[in-house]
Parts: sequence; structure tokens; C-alpha cells
Amino acid sequence: MSKSSEWHRKETEGKEDDGYDMYLAEQQELEYFREKAEQYILEKHREMFALEVKALENIGINVEDTTTLPEMVYDTKEFLEAIWHASTEILPALEVQVVIDGKNDCYVTTGSSGYVEFGMKPPIGMQLPVRCWIHTHPFGSAYFSGTDIRTVSIWEAEMIDAIVVGGIGHYGLWNQDQPKQLEIYRDFELEKVQKWGYNEKYGEEE
Ligand SMILES: [Zn+2]
Repeated sequence: MSKSSEWHRKETEGKEDDGYDMYLAEQQELEYFREKAEQYILEKHREMFALEVKALENIGINVEDTTTLPEMVYDTKEFLEAIWHASTEILPALEVQVVIDGKNDCYVTTGSSGYVEFGMKPPIGMQLPVRCWIHTHPFGSAYFSGTDIRTVSIWEAEMIDAIVVGGIGHYGLWNQDQPKQLEIYRDFELEKVQKWGYNEKYGEEE
């Protein structure tokens, strides 16, 4: 009889001796493009936000405190296109996440495909409520995964809008007022509505 039980675990090790230097070089290159993608989106947000403030001032509205503006920059065609561009052209089809917080500050993070970071780890310094949570599905399908549904369910009370982007003119819109559905657009036209229930068992991560 053996003194301790022996566990046989099959583990696939990701590391290989060959190509490790190559791997490091690729990671460095990826870091560069992540930074570039983030800056691209932040710059686009600044630009569009400034235009919006100017437009308000042009019609005589004095914007003293931009943090209180119920800003709508985030669901414009141009902003969503910029996010898609960052996710699929600047980055090699990596998921991009953008959060517009309660002060109209914009936070950008990049992950791998099918990985939603927000639910676990909201951006540091973010102020509630989340005005909009946007993320991409770089392989081109704008629906909510089980992970996404869990995220909006958890944040429902503190999140006003959420958008998933799957291409140019292909996106899903979620709103706090109808928290159990996602309106999915294709070529900028409403194509279908994804619905889910209260007691549904949500799937595993995509
Ligand atoms: Zn998703």
C-alpha cells in the first residue's frame, strides 16, 4: 500500500524551449501595438468629445462642467468604427474594451479574443455609473456571450449602456432600461434581438 495517494494529472505545458526568445520579441511588439491602439481610441474620444462640447456652446449652452454632460459620443458611427479599427487593424484581432465612466473619462484596455476583463476588474479610478461599456468581438459577431450577459447582470444597476462591436455597422446595443436583451444591428439596421431570462444558466466563457 502506498502511503499517499498518487495523482496523475495531465498538464499541457505552454512553454517550449524552442522559440522562447521569439515569443518574448512578439510580446514586446504586441505591447507596442496595444499602446498604439489605446492611444488611438483615447485621442478619438478626446476629439469627438471636444466637438460635442463645441456644438453645445454653438447653440448657446454654456458647458461649465463637462463631467456632468450626458455625453453621447460613444454610440456614434465614428467612435465605434475607431474602436473596430483599433481591434482589427492596429491589433491582430484582439479584443478591445472601452469604458466611459460617470465623469466622461475614457478607459481603454486590450485583451485576447473572447476575454472580457471588465466583469472581474473594472478600470482603476473609474467613477460610477458606467455610462457605457464597449467591447469588440474581433472575429465578427456582435452578440452577448455568457460572460457578457453575466457582466451586464452584475453591473445592471450601475451601467447605463453597453455595446458589443462585431464589424462596421454590426453591433449590439444594451440598455439598463431593458436589461435582458441585446438589439443586434447589421449594416446599421436592426437585425434581431437576443434575449435571455432571469433564471437562465449562463454558459461558460466563450
Ligand atoms: Zn463579449
